[in-house]
Amino acid sequence: MKTLDDVHLSGERVFVRSELNVSISDQGVADYTRIEASRPTFDTLRERGCRVVVCSHMGRPWGRRDPSKSLRQLIEPLNDILDADVRFVEDCIGPARDEAVAALGEGEILLLENVRYHSEENSNDPAFGEALVHGMDLYVNDAFGTCHRSHASIVAAALAAPERCAGRLLQRELTQLELMHNPDYRPTLAVIGGAKISGKDGKLSIVENLVNTVDQVAVIGKLAYYFLIASGIEVGVTMSADTRGIDAPDASLADDVEACRGVLAQAQALGKPLLLPVDSVVNVDGRDVLVSFANEMVPAAGRALDIGPGTIESLKAAIEASNLVVWNGPAGYFEEPAYRAGTLAIARALGRFGGHAVIGGGDTVAAVASTIGEVHPSIHICTGGGAMLTWLMGAELPGVAALEAVPSIQRS
Ligand code: ADP
Ligand code: MG
Repeated sequence: MKTLDDVHLSGERVFVRSELNVSISDQGVADYTRIEASRPTFDTLRERGCRVVVCSHMGRPWGRRDPSKSLRQLIEPLNDILDADVRFVEDCIGPARDEAVAALGEGEILLLENVRYHSEENSNDPAFGEALVHGMDLYVNDAFGTCHRSHASIVAAALAAPERCAGRLLQRELTQLELMHNPDYRPTLAVIGGAKISGKDGKLSIVENLVNTVDQVAVIGKLAYYFLIASGIEVGVTMSADTRGIDAPDASLADDVEACRGVLAQAQALGKPLLLPVDSVVNVDGRDVLVSFANEMVPAAGRALDIGPGTIESLKAAIEASNLVVWNGPAGYFEEPAYRAGTLAIARALGRFGGHAVIGGGDTVAAVASTIGEVHPSIHICTGGGAMLTWLMGAELPGVAALEAVPSIQRS
């Protein structure tokens, strides 16, 4: 895979697939992280006099022109952050856009309207991909957070362009994740939690894969209770839907628990047993109690909503003993202050330990951002939730594969 360091940059017309998918309210852009993270690529291209055409999606308008998802709203934020005078065009393909591209001067930026206004984006339509990069010299993928999707701006456009490479943000994300395979960073610890559990893109598959690739896996969050059930612990009503509807689907519960038995046995056989919660904060009839699994189980009416102090201590020790920690998924129902302690304790431990940490997952990052902030240079906050999960699962990212593809696929 080429990066911006491997391609000729001097005045070219460059199509950049960015991830400017920020949420916008009446107060404006809520969080500038994604725009800030995209800046290094724009800076490099503009320094070399390139004409930069920026493509992104926002939200899920899926083929409809929904004004609340218009990228027009990003002109001002981009002008501020990039210190630029960003042009805008109402459509990401077609004559008006081609004219706007032709009029671009050196170092100038043209922002295209939301690529998801076209349904061909979703279907990875080759002709749409060609139209996206029409007249371009180079395709740059900097949208790590969308690389797990086979969409036209991610795959078809990359393959249709005369040349393709990774932008700075994508390069950085992949470099950070690759540290997991770097012997200098061992021992490695993966901490996996949250509530997106079963199914082909669930976190069970991640644990299954990570057992083979890192030195130790700790399982927390709702996910952990599958493994506890598999170890013979009763978990009360923990797996049934809570008031938000976050549940373990009954249909697959038995299969998933069976899969957990397999993973537990595999981890044992490899000599690196899973680190599971030893205690939980359990809500029973409106009261919170601490349940210690060494000598008790979750009462029949109880719902385990956070890890307990014993588990926090063992996680801290595991973090201290590691050189690299990859964390995805909160330890409990952190949206409720009463069940936030486990998640925040992990964030603080990562802020203090001497090693390197990679943290991802939409909810995980939201939960810990204010605790960790930008003060710890050895902590990398991943910009893509689903893409990180796909990577951790050991699966191919279509966006990355398209950058690696041999150009003759298109040209022969
Ligand atoms: P991420 O977005 O970081 O990948 P997930 O989407 O998998 O994480 O899971 C986040 C959700 O998991 C949060 O809404 C949190 O409340 C929920 N959660 C974690 N542990 C529990 C638990 N024990 N009981 C109920 N909800 C939980
Ligand atoms: Mg989530």
